[in-house]
Amino acid sequence: MNHYWQDKSVVVTGGARGQGAAVTLLLLQAGAMVFVMDYLPEPDPTWTDLQQQALGLPGRLSTLHLDVAKASGWEVAAQAVRSCGRELYGLVNNAGITGPRNTVTRTVLDDWERVIGVNLTGAMLGIRALAPLMPPGASILNISSTVGMTGYYSAAYSTSKWALRGLTRSAAMELAPSGIRVNCVCPGVVDTEMIRSNLTLVNALQGVIPLQGMAAPRQIADVMFFLLGPRSSYMTGADIAVDGGITGCGTYWPVAHATGALAHAESRRDARQGYAMEQDVGSVAEVIGTSKY
Ligand code: NAD
Repeated sequence: MNHYWQDKSVVVTGGARGQGAAVTLLLLQAGAMVFVMDYLPEPDPTWTDLQQQALGLPGRLSTLHLDVAKASGWEVAAQAVRSCGRELYGLVNNAGITGPRNTVTRTVLDDWERVIGVNLTGAMLGIRALAPLMPPGASILNISSTVGMTGYYSAAYSTSKWALRGLTRSAAMELAPSGIRVNCVCPGVVDTEMIRSNLTLVNALQGVIPLQGMAAPRQIADVMFFLLGPRSSYMTGADIAVDGGITGCGTYWPVAHATGALAHAESRRDARQGYAMEQDVGSVAEVIGTSKY
């Protein structure tokens, strides 16, 4: 399994930076030929940074300018993959934009169409263009979000991420007879340009992450790498939250804070980290009371 990627190619969209770049570097370390397709113009410092990091790694990096929302670009992409001499074993539909974050009633139609076009239609076009080139054993990943699992005020973005989970299941069903797997990753809050562009949001989110703090792109990329490779060979049609416990601990994580129900655990953590002495704060029932029934 160590040599699995050495004669294989993978396409990563939106891979010039952020999570896409993180998984690209893991694949290059494993020896794959990676086509990074991004709409950033070249030359651009982001591309240069990725190219510098790729130097000396065993795999081969090939960059291609592509707007994932345009069908014509995918034909060129498929041609590049076909002529590279290595079979295509992976596709990561990672390119994404938030657009202007707006609620449903304030949505501007052009903004809606662009977000859906990039985040959802782009992934469909990628699968439509490249799945026919893939052999049995290949793996496709769509990058959704925890806002594709819950309500969110940024309507177009959230809708696109919910729909990606539907696309994942439809494609998983269609491609299972060809031995191609299709799964979906739902990251929580990841430290990339996308999230850093809104510090108010970053600060507000800190209190909702049980494992504390944002994920590093590499923490999401590790799961992507697993889902792309043979160690996840019996998984298809799944969506995996990689979110520090946001969805798993749900609404009751902020509630536990508000009520002090986890005060004993927090006191233990703070003592371990050297912030304070561990305090005996009593049981949950003593802190927040019990109900009659
Ligand atoms: P990012 O903004 O750092 O990277 C996105 C990349 O996609 C950029 O390189 C950008 O140039 C490229 N891109 C955008 N539109 C494109 C298009 N039309 N065609 C080709 N490339 C395009 O963001 P990121 O955080 O690395 O996001 C990667 C994916 O993860 C996105 O789908 C995003 O929605 C998703 N996600 C991110 C977070 C987070 O907290 N950062 C959380 C959940 C999901």
